[in-house]
Amino acid sequence: MATETFPFQSDVSKLLDIVVHALYSNKQIFLRELISNAADACDRLRYLALTNPGLLGDDAVFRIVLTPENAAGSLTISDNGIGMNRNELVENIGTIARSGTVAFIEHLKSEKKEDCNMIGQFGVGFYSAFMVAHTVEVITRRADTNSGWRWVSDGKGTFTVEEVPKENRGTHIILHLKQDEHEYLESPRLRHLVKTYSDHIAIPVLLREEDKEESVNEAAALWTRPRSEINTDQYREFYRNVGHSLDEPWLTLHYKGEGAIEYTGLLFVPSVRPFDLFHQDRKHHVQLYIRRVFVTEDCPDLLPAWLRFLKGVVDSQDLPLNISREVLQHNPLLAKIRGGLVRRFLTDLKKRSNTQEDYSVFWNNFGAVLKEGLYEDFERKTEIIELCRFHTTDSPEELVSLETYVGRMKDGQEAIYYITGDAADVLMRSPHLEGFRAKGIEVLLLTDPIDEFWPATIGEFAGKKFVSAAHAIPDLSTITNGTQEVHESADEHKDISATLESLLRALKKVLGPIIKDVRFSDRLTESPVCLVADQNDMSLHLERLLRQHRQIDHTVPRVLEINPRHSLIRRIADMAQRDGESSDFTDVALLLLDQARIMNGEPLPDTTAFTRRMTVLMERGLNL
Ligand code: ADP
Repeated sequence: MATETFPFQSDVSKLLDIVVHALYSNKQIFLRELISNAADACDRLRYLALTNPGLLGDDAVFRIVLTPENAAGSLTISDNGIGMNRNELVENIGTIARSGTVAFIEHLKSEKKEDCNMIGQFGVGFYSAFMVAHTVEVITRRADTNSGWRWVSDGKGTFTVEEVPKENRGTHIILHLKQDEHEYLESPRLRHLVKTYSDHIAIPVLLREEDKEESVNEAAALWTRPRSEINTDQYREFYRNVGHSLDEPWLTLHYKGEGAIEYTGLLFVPSVRPFDLFHQDRKHHVQLYIRRVFVTEDCPDLLPAWLRFLKGVVDSQDLPLNISREVLQHNPLLAKIRGGLVRRFLTDLKKRSNTQEDYSVFWNNFGAVLKEGLYEDFERKTEIIELCRFHTTDSPEELVSLETYVGRMKDGQEAIYYITGDAADVLMRSPHLEGFRAKGIEVLLLTDPIDEFWPATIGEFAGKKFVSAAHAIPDLSTITNGTQEVHESADEHKDISATLESLLRALKKVLGPIIKDVRFSDRLTESPVCLVADQNDMSLHLERLLRQHRQIDHTVPRVLEINPRHSLIRRIADMAQRDGESSDFTDVALLLLDQARIMNGEPLPDTTAFTRRMTVLMERGLNL
C-alpha cells in the first residue's frame, strides 16, 4: 500500500511549538514520557489478556528495551505491549485527545505564559520526542492483527503512514537524534535517566548494548515496597510520572488499608493547581490497579469529585479482576475503598492544617474544591468545615479557621456573618459591611462560586448560624462594641421619624413596581443607600453568576435599604414632604436606586435615563 501523508491537527502543531520552546531546560523528560507510554501499552495488553489470553501468544513477559545506535545516531524505545493498528496510529499520534489540553494551549498562547510547571501539568507525552529528535519514526503492530505500520514525521506539520512488515506485536519509537543531542546515546546517561525518572515502572526496562541486555530499573511497583525503603526523590518521580507533572507533591500519602478489605493507596496532592480543575469533565487522576494489574484511570467512583485534585494509584487485593470496568463502578467493595481513602486523606490533611503558611499553599490551590464536599458530602461535612480557611474583614491577608472566628465573636453576636462576591478587596469596600465595621463585627469574605451554596446546606458551626451580610438581616443593635453609641433626643427623633415615614411612602410609590421593598437600615453608616436580597431570596452575586452563565434570564426584585442618618436622605425626606408627587422627586428616587445598583456592582438597566437625570441635577446644583 502507498505511503499516505497527513497534516497534524492544528493544535498539535501549536503544542509542539510550545513544548519544544518551553521545556527546553527539561528535555530529558522525553525518556520518561516514552517509557511511560510503553509501560501503559504493556498494562493495557495485560488487562485485555485476562479475558483473551491468546493475545499474548508465546511472548508473555512484558519488557521495554532501549537501544542506542551510535552509527545511526538513533535511540529506539521498544515495547511488546498492545501496539496500534493503522487507525489508532493516525488518531492517537497526530491529534490531541486529552480533554482540556486544547483550551489550555489557547490559554498559554493568549497569556504568553510558557511556564514549565504549567506545561508539565498536562503531560506533553509523545510530542516531547521532538525536543531531542529531528525525525521520529513509530513502527507498530497491534496484538490482534498481522500488519505493521510505520509513522514518520519531522514534527513540522505533517506525518506519513505506510504499511511495513513487523514480526511481533508492540511498538518501536525510533528517535533520530539532533546533532547536539547525542548524549542520549551514552549508556551511563541513559542508565541514570531511567534510574531517576522511571525506576518505579513495574515493567523491566532493559538497555541493549551490542548483543547484551541489562536491566536498569527496579521494576517493582513503587507502592508495593515498604515506606521505609522509599526516599523522597523516588516518591517525587513516581508522582511526576503518574501525575504528568513537573511540580513537587505537596502531600504524599502511602498506606495499606486494613480491616475488612485490603488495598494500598499511594496518593498525592500537587503543589500547583492543575489548569483544568474546574473544567466540567475534569476527573481525579488516580489509577486503579487490582493485584498489580493496571485496570483503569477512569473510575469516578473511586473518589468523590471534591477530591479530584488527587493523583496516584490505588491497588486492591480484593476486587475481582475479571469483571468489566462498567460493572466495577458499582461494586460495593469499591465504595468501601473510597470511604477508606477519604477518611485517611482527611486525617492526614488535618495534621498539615496546623501550620499556617504550609497549609495556605494547599488551601489557595484546592480550598474551593474541598468546599464542594460541604455541599455534596453530608457525612463528611463536619470534618471538612473544620479544615476550611477564610479571609475575613479582620483578616483580609491571613486565612482563619471558623474556630478562630467563633472564638473572637463580639458579645451578643449570635451568628457567623459572611458576604459573597468575586474578589475580597471589592467586598471589603461593600456598603453592606458598613454597619458591621462600625460595630467591629468580623465578616467572612467568600469569593468562590461554591460559597453561594454551602452555608445554607451546612446551616451552622459550633451552634452559630451562618447569616449573609448582603441579605436583609435582623438588626445588629444587640451586639455591643464597647463604645457608647450616639442617640438622638426623643423630640428630635419624633420629628425626624414623621418626615422619614413620608419619605418611605413616597419612595415606595415611585419604586414599587421595580423593587420588592424600601426599608430603613441600621447597617449603613457612610452610604445613603444599598440594595440587599430579601431574607429567602438568592444573593445578588449568585444572580449575576447565573445570568453570566445564562442559567436564568430574569431578575429577582430587591430591597432598597436607606440610611436615615445620612444628610442626603434627610434632604430628600424634606423634598418628599414638600413635593413628593413631582417629577423631580421621581428623578431623585430613581437616581438613588441607580446609585445603589452601582455600589453593588449591578449593571444599570437604562444608562441613558440615568445620565439624563444626573445631568439635570448636576446643572441645577452648579447653578446654586
Ligand atoms: P497520552 O499518553 O497522555 O495519552 P501521548 O501523546 O503520549 O499521550 O500518546 C498518545 C496516544 O498514543 C496514547 O494515548 C496511546 O494510545 C498511543 N501510544 C503512544 N505510545 C504508545 C505505545 N508505545 N504503544 C501503544 N500506544 C501508544
